Amino acid sequence: MRLSQENLIECRNFLLILQLLLKLKKFKIMAASEALIFQIQKFSTEDGPGIRTTVFFKHCPLKCIWCHNPESILKIPQLEWFKHKCIGCKTCIETCQQKALSFDKNGLNIDREKCTECGECVVECPSTALNMLGRWWKLEDLFYEIEKDKVYYTESNGGITVSGGEPTQQPDFVADFLKKCKENGISTAVDTCGYASKKVYKQILPYVDLVLLDIKHIDSDKHKEFTGVPNEAILENAIWISNYLKGNGKKMWIRTPIIPLYTAIEENLKGIGEFIVNKLNNFPERWDLLSFNNLCVSKYERLNIDWSLKDVLLMKKEEMEHFLNIAESTGVKNPHWSGLIRSIESNENIMKNQDHHLVDNVD
Ligand code: SF4
Ligand code: SF4
Repeated sequence: MRLSQENLIECRNFLLILQLLLKLKKFKIMAASEALIFQIQKFSTEDGPGIRTTVFFKHCPLKCIWCHNPESILKIPQLEWFKHKCIGCKTCIETCQQKALSFDKNGLNIDREKCTECGECVVECPSTALNMLGRWWKLEDLFYEIEKDKVYYTESNGGITVSGGEPTQQPDFVADFLKKCKENGISTAVDTCGYASKKVYKQILPYVDLVLLDIKHIDSDKHKEFTGVPNEAILENAIWISNYLKGNGKKMWIRTPIIPLYTAIEENLKGIGEFIVNKLNNFPERWDLLSFNNLCVSKYERLNIDWSLKDVLLMKKEEMEHFLNIAESTGVKNPHWSGLIRSIESNENIMKNQDHHLVDNVD
């Protein structure tokens, strides 16, 4: 059979389109095979039941004023400097090809416009005073890492939790990772701000046993003022997710950060409680009130960010109990509070009713 000139052009165009589609598919597979993670927290006891490993993914669509994990916001690795470890050898300055580093009377300056996050200064620093926040992980490496503690998960009714940042910002990888965990008998939880599309939740939730969903403020204008986004989509997702979980025999916990002057307001707690009872049909297994803490001040300093809440005092025990009473009065089942509190006598932050870790769940 002889092909005409037109047939040949059509064939060539078809092959070009096919090639393009294959490239796109390959890119998608490659993109899903790695994720940017800034912390893997072993023996975590606050992000779901039992002993867990919590995997913290970088990137978050919210910008909460009280964010306790400032290193989680951007979807790029970020260089941090530990003043107390630095011996002032200036090896990093000689190493940096981008001329992004310099010293002044306050210590090391990082020009974040020039820094390409290559990590060479981290490698060369003799005293581990430099660290890169965020590393690209392959799925098989991450699974190998978390599987080491499988016996603890099994014995304690624990598992793994994907958190952040916001894990739904890297949905392909997270779905594949959760699926692999489930296929290997590891229980899974996702800690989410609720600000993602239904398409993403539909992709992830089949491989999730428990959803930890944040409801931070019931007033949408205030939610936008404090977090950067309104809350309508989050509340709508909360209803959809609770119905999905209920219909599939899975569990849900609601979490609310209790932040002085922002969310620690009686009307807010009442409003969230009424939403849980009336709109979520009191389905969530528990409601966690997480007290404000300021352990993250040094993280902000290391990232050269001025944190507006750095001088805010912790909540008192009486205040947390007051908010717990309000939560109970709404009829929500199983409200709890946890986190750091302030001692009345000294105004120092000395008490805690649960162990805390460096990467925080108040976000
Ligand atoms: S290489 Fe490390 S120890 Fe030396 S000046 Fe730089 S940060 Fe400090
Ligand atoms: S990470 Fe690379 S570009 Fe950034 S300061 Fe270090 S050596 Fe320079």
